[in-house]
Amino acid sequence: MGGFSRAAEPATVGTVRGCGSSAPENVEMTSLWLENALCLLQEGDAWSARPRSVEIVDGTIVAIHDPAMLPPTSGVEVIQANGLLAVPGFVNAHSHSPDNLIRGSAPNLPLELWSLHSAAGRNDRTEREAYIAAMLGAIEMLRCGTTGVLDHVRISPDIEGARLDAVASAYRDIGMRAVVAPIVADRVVADTMPLTAEDLGDIDIAAYGRRAPLPAAEQIAIAEGFAAAWDGRDGRITTGIGPSAPQRCTDELLELAADLSARRALTLHMHLLETRAQRALGFERYGKGTIAHLIELGVVGPRTTFAHAIWIEPGDIERLARAGAGVVHNPVSNARLGSGVCPLPRYLSAGVRIGLGTDSACCNDSNNLLETAKWATLLHNLEGEDADWISPGTALELITGGSADVTGLGTVTGRLAPGFRADVTLFRLASPAFVPLIDPVRQLIQAENGAAVERVIVDGRTVYADGRITTVDEAAIWAEAAELAERRLHDNAETYRQAAALEVPIRRMYRRLATEHEGCVH
Ligand SMILES: [Zn+2]
Repeated sequence: MGGFSRAAEPATVGTVRGCGSSAPENVEMTSLWLENALCLLQEGDAWSARPRSVEIVDGTIVAIHDPAMLPPTSGVEVIQANGLLAVPGFVNAHSHSPDNLIRGSAPNLPLELWSLHSAAGRNDRTEREAYIAAMLGAIEMLRCGTTGVLDHVRISPDIEGARLDAVASAYRDIGMRAVVAPIVADRVVADTMPLTAEDLGDIDIAAYGRRAPLPAAEQIAIAEGFAAAWDGRDGRITTGIGPSAPQRCTDELLELAADLSARRALTLHMHLLETRAQRALGFERYGKGTIAHLIELGVVGPRTTFAHAIWIEPGDIERLARAGAGVVHNPVSNARLGSGVCPLPRYLSAGVRIGLGTDSACCNDSNNLLETAKWATLLHNLEGEDADWISPGTALELITGGSADVTGLGTVTGRLAPGFRADVTLFRLASPAFVPLIDPVRQLIQAENGAAVERVIVDGRTVYADGRITTVDEAAIWAEAAELAERRLHDNAETYRQAAALEVPIRRMYRRLATEHEGCVH
């Protein structure tokens, strides 16, 4: 650990050698040399922190060198990384970019009540709003060391190509890696909750969400058109298919989504069993647990990734492990919404593939994956034996290789190793979280919050340095976002008012379900 004492040395970042005296920013550099960084490397299940130089050619890590090795004398941008911690860029495995434009708008409420606010806020957006919302999240994530994201994009009221294009364009323009998985859903709101006639009382449920959704096949066709246009674009943008959740989709739509996922090798990403009400509706609709039903339907496989998966049945963890499916743990969102605790230690010990996500900025309320990783590390200490606690090293693996794996990027990103794309975050070790430097992984996960991010590299290109995003004008985006959000809150006032009518029946439903959840693993 003695080598970590170099933390106190100031870092000089951005030095360019071998390019002559002309301005280096005018030269299209294809080779990058991160000289003498303290690199977080993986050896088996363990992380080690070692002084190394990272050689990057055409956006790919080609070698991790002993720091004594000298860089080539020409044609390479050398970044003096002494005093910097080099970490694989994080991957946020579950987020919703449209909600970046309504951050702060929804009170702390359980999911079904919270959704009345969030759904009203994201309705009827323009293409520009879709673009700016994605930009807001991308800026925030890059600033906190997250280089890749799965964006489970809800275009409201229905999936629509031009706004999906706008979202993908934002990731293209800012230079972030993204899996854009458009949400499809074909049930009206009244059918997504186990509301009884007694719950509803004199409320006319048909008055809320009565507009018929687009037919399932039409929605899938739009998602497929989007995949045809964007999947693999610029080497950084891939696409997925994102059924909203079983309670919001007919079996026909789920089967069509699974078929699209199989035909085009797309990640199928879906919310699953986030709340007690969803579990109850699954039994009511399917006559069995929701996961058992989805497996019978043929929509669960190695390309399937479920967000939340909290309210599961005995045997479900083993079912998901056997199917090779992934689960994305969103501990901050789950706490904000009072949804429950995902049994993460049990999923991990059963060998289920796991990633971590922030979920929406309207229910987190940040896109900071370091905060989520800290929660994942500490939350499960409140239950079970300490042998099952989640270590900082495991949390780091979950936000790097784990999240990359469950989003379909496992062979592309998430490792500081030859053959992986160069998605790298450099943290300043001369900063509060890392002084004194005793355990870099523990201090990264449990002390750092993004404030020490010095430089962020995606696909071999620096997208954040010197305290700012290098690819877009953040101030202009923030100014436009504030204006758009204010206008939308005003324009959607009637939608908010209509949604509020459902609050009383949902609260009645909660009181009834609180006494009716025998048999669940909780
Ligand atoms: Zn979500």
